Amino acid sequence: MALPLGPLATTYPDPNIEALDKRFPRQQNAGIERIATGCRWNEGPVYFPAGGYFLWSDIPNNRIMRWLEDDGHVSVFRAPSNYANGNARDLQGRLITCEHETRRVTRTEPDGAVTILIDQFEGKPLNAPNDVTVAPDGAIWFTDPGFGIEGEYEGHRAAAELPPNVYRLDPQTGRATIAADDFLRPNGLAFSADGAALYIIETGLADRGPAQIRKFKADDGKLSGGAIFADGFAPGILDGIRTDGQGNIWCAHGWADPAENGVHCYSPDGALLGKIHLPEPCANLCFGGPKQNRLFMTAGTSIYALYLNVQGALCL
Ligand code: MG
Repeated sequence: MALPLGPLATTYPDPNIEALDKRFPRQQNAGIERIATGCRWNEGPVYFPAGGYFLWSDIPNNRIMRWLEDDGHVSVFRAPSNYANGNARDLQGRLITCEHETRRVTRTEPDGAVTILIDQFEGKPLNAPNDVTVAPDGAIWFTDPGFGIEGEYEGHRAAAELPPNVYRLDPQTGRATIAADDFLRPNGLAFSADGAALYIIETGLADRGPAQIRKFKADDGKLSGGAIFADGFAPGILDGIRTDGQGNIWCAHGWADPAENGVHCYSPDGALLGKIHLPEPCANLCFGGPKQNRLFMTAGTSIYALYLNVQGALCL
């Protein structure tokens, strides 16, 4: 299914962008654009400033796609991708990828070789790593909720042998530790710009507890706190999350009321600042562009992009 590319609206301000607070960092004369389409279920957005391209996972089609910034060309970056889901960039600019089918987290080296960073914990296979981010100290944090082994559509069916943990992996030593073990289905995760806070999504599906954003204090590789930062998303669910340089929190939302498909933006004190409404359920998002002021959103079969009056925090 190919949807038309281009702007969703031809007037400014874009009526698909809903400001609820004057602090919402919208760019008044910028609108939402559909920049790629024709995929099956998009996830795992990551932008590479050195190459001027954006990658994402088209999970059911078992491939990672690439969009070139200079002319908008879309092509296959990697297939098969082992049903890759979340992607991130490490501090050296290398691609970090969560793979459902192979139940591992990998790093793509500058020469294209793929290094397995982790595929088991305490002798048991990981479930199906979902999303990943990189801390200011270079540690790799990822979630392992197990969605990717529940069927044949986004991986292959298998039994979970580990709880749905959040892990911290030291890529220097290869040592992984459980960072959080009290989630039902942990999903997206993002550090604040200073690295002092980590926001983690509790997905929230009908029989799997509420959709929430939880906020942890991150110190020396360990988490504390974990209070609910935002909730009230039911019956919708949450997936990916990112932060910006002003401390705002951006989360992907969808699956219930079509009018609520898109992105929610919160201030650091928890106020809902605004919403970006998309015509498809949004799974994930990331900042990118040469100035890191463009929000890329993976939603259903398409990729949407929007310039904002703010820059991404760590831009990973
Ligand atoms: Mg996810």
